[in-house]
Amino acid sequence: MEQGSKAIDKYNSRCGEIASVAAAASISARLYNMYALPVLGYICQFYQPTKKLLNVESYGIHKVMHIPPQSFGLSEILALDILGGVAFTSIATTCRAALFRAAASTFQWEEWHETVFEEAQDCLNISECLSGDFCPKGWDSRAIVSNLRCSQLGRSPFVRCPVSLASGRRILKEATTDSGFLGIQRHAYALFKPKFDISRFRFLFARRLTSSLQALGCLAEAESVCSSGLAQLKASLLKETMHVRMLYLKTLAGAWTTSVRMHEKEIKTCLFGCPESLDEVGHYLRCPVLWVCLDLWAPPKSPESIIDRLCLKGPVDYGIRKIALAFSVYHATKNLHMHIVDTAKLTNDFLPLHTATKNLAIMFAHDLAMLRPLALNSQAAKSYGSELELVDCDR
Ligand SMILES: [Zn+2]
Repeated sequence: MEQGSKAIDKYNSRCGEIASVAAAASISARLYNMYALPVLGYICQFYQPTKKLLNVESYGIHKVMHIPPQSFGLSEILALDILGGVAFTSIATTCRAALFRAAASTFQWEEWHETVFEEAQDCLNISECLSGDFCPKGWDSRAIVSNLRCSQLGRSPFVRCPVSLASGRRILKEATTDSGFLGIQRHAYALFKPKFDISRFRFLFARRLTSSLQALGCLAEAESVCSSGLAQLKASLLKETMHVRMLYLKTLAGAWTTSVRMHEKEIKTCLFGCPESLDEVGHYLRCPVLWVCLDLWAPPKSPESIIDRLCLKGPVDYGIRKIALAFSVYHATKNLHMHIVDTAKLTNDFLPLHTATKNLAIMFAHDLAMLRPLALNSQAAKSYGSELELVDCDR
């Protein structure tokens, strides 16, 4: 399967190229589905996907989305569209659909099968021959014709996901209205795609919030809210843009690239200047310096409770957008202004840092349509310094 290894290398390389574009999640997902995934789907019109091939998927999607590895489980990240997020195409399901399409309409494999069957009678025992699974000793996988035959007969080569013959016929019938093999593959993909219940997200979010909020004493509350409010949350998310939805969902999954989450060599303290607090998402959800700035430039004032701030008990005015704003300001500070952060910590002069934070907040609030009316800006500018003086961050 050297061809498989080359395809995996090409897939990884394309994921890296897409990640380097640093586009919004919706664009990255589209680029991934169009340019990275087909590299693997192409070879799987003949072969069953190997474990190695299936294992690259989670890493590739996390890379494309610029989030820490394993922020989401593979099932969850492939089902983000159920919550209103972006839709990534599954490698395993694409492989199954490609093999089915190849057997059903792309290749006339029956003659190949007859030829191999005749040869197999000389080198395989009777049961192996009759089963159609031609895989003599020394071969690392079954004959291509075995995979094609198996797929068209409706017997899935994927042991865990059996497909009935009736399902196979249904795909062909539904595809007759579409032209060409792409129609068959599209219908096969829809049929083979594993069903995912939205309530399964509660396990992931409760687990991540447990880890983010443990020190904040809201663990039990976070778990119970995640169990009951996902449908309401989805309704609120659908009122926002895809960009905002994705930043919010990344936050629920704890997917900020903080030095704690990324296990960096040097674990930093809060980038906004709280000396006793670590550089981790649990702190930033209530960092007094950050939230004073966000509330001034993107009012109204956020609730004190983290659970309410995260909109887990129901919609809060601009709550989801405020989380997206916090996400954007933090990552822009980390990616663009670390020299200002380091200088501020060294000199104990935080004014330049707070000015930079304010400018980022204004810029992103404008992007997210949250900026307060211009008439109020001058008043906010005056009150910004005095509000920060009231912030208790043990400095
Ligand atoms: Zn802080």
